Amino acid sequence: MGVLRHYRELLPITDKTPDVNLEEGMTPLIPLPRVSKRLGINLYGKFEGCNPSGSFKDRGMVLAVAKALEDGKRAVICASTGNTSASAAAYAASQGIPCFVLLPAGKVALGKLAQALMYGAKVIAVKGNFDRALELAREGAEKTGCAMVNSVNPYRLIGQRSGAWEICDVLGKAPDWHAIPVGNAGNISAYWAGYNEYKKLGKIDRLPRMMGFQADGAAPLVYNKPCPNPETVATAIRIGNPVSAHLARAAVSESGGEFNAVTDAQILEAQRVLAAEGGVFAEPASCAPLAGLMKLKTEGRLPEGITVTMILTGNGLKDPDTAMSQVGKPIEINDTLDDLMRVLGE
Ligand SMILES: *Cc1c(COP(=O)(O)O)cnc(C)c1O
Repeated sequence: MGVLRHYRELLPITDKTPDVNLEEGMTPLIPLPRVSKRLGINLYGKFEGCNPSGSFKDRGMVLAVAKALEDGKRAVICASTGNTSASAAAYAASQGIPCFVLLPAGKVALGKLAQALMYGAKVIAVKGNFDRALELAREGAEKTGCAMVNSVNPYRLIGQRSGAWEICDVLGKAPDWHAIPVGNAGNISAYWAGYNEYKKLGKIDRLPRMMGFQADGAAPLVYNKPCPNPETVATAIRIGNPVSAHLARAAVSESGGEFNAVTDAQILEAQRVLAAEGGVFAEPASCAPLAGLMKLKTEGRLPEGITVTMILTGNGLKDPDTAMSQVGKPIEINDTLDDLMRVLGE
């Protein structure tokens, strides 16, 4: 049905808003019994990798592109660590409008780059980091009148509220903790707004604690200062100066939550645990929350028996290089039963 149709009455949709739809949203809230047991909690992963372009970005992009068209814009532009560009390119393609994407050169996961190019976007590799690419995209948008579809576009965050609504619709309540990776800090802010809206509407009676997780090499919200040279294997959250920092801080403090940092090694270990014990393959950035929960468990700071939803923001298939660097190679054999039995008997 897509986010615009499913939550039409909660979104700023008019009779003039085009019906943009790639069947985004309604992603599965996957119970993770083995990982839950390890942590002593009731853990669900909301697998945003099931969205049409493979990340949660589609929830807000569908509305941003629809409103851009409604406002008479005829092209979109964005800066991206990868997933925003994939999503913008997909929706622009579906509407037949040009899409320009600015990416930090050499720092975008292979699958995301392949997507943007396949969807037909004009892909521009900027020799600089994401934060600089974002400044350039903003200036470019101003000069050309292209619609800027980064999360500075308010419709992005409004569309992304739908994730919180879906969780509450499925659980019949809010979780105790909402664990989420934080990069530019839009998504944590959107979820908080979404939960609050549902509370106001009487659909839930209490709010979750918002637990935001950053990579240690790109943790401006944890350490409370911009990070001029962000570095992490989790490229989707390799951001040093989050645009929505103020909203994210408010979400965490109003909800009694916290920001926490996890190392790249912890992120990669969590990615393996999620795949090998959960059956879900999510990209590195998406695994920062699980890394954080595992860390809190070790520190004795994870309350027993609570219900936790973590947002698995993007699909693991987007970044095969990082995954392959962490796992063994296939076992090669000659095409004989003897060789096969040697392996099976091991
Ligand atoms: C964009 C993105 C994030 C970060 O979301 P913000 O809204 O920028 O905090 C995390 N994980 C993935 C996979 C992303 O694509």
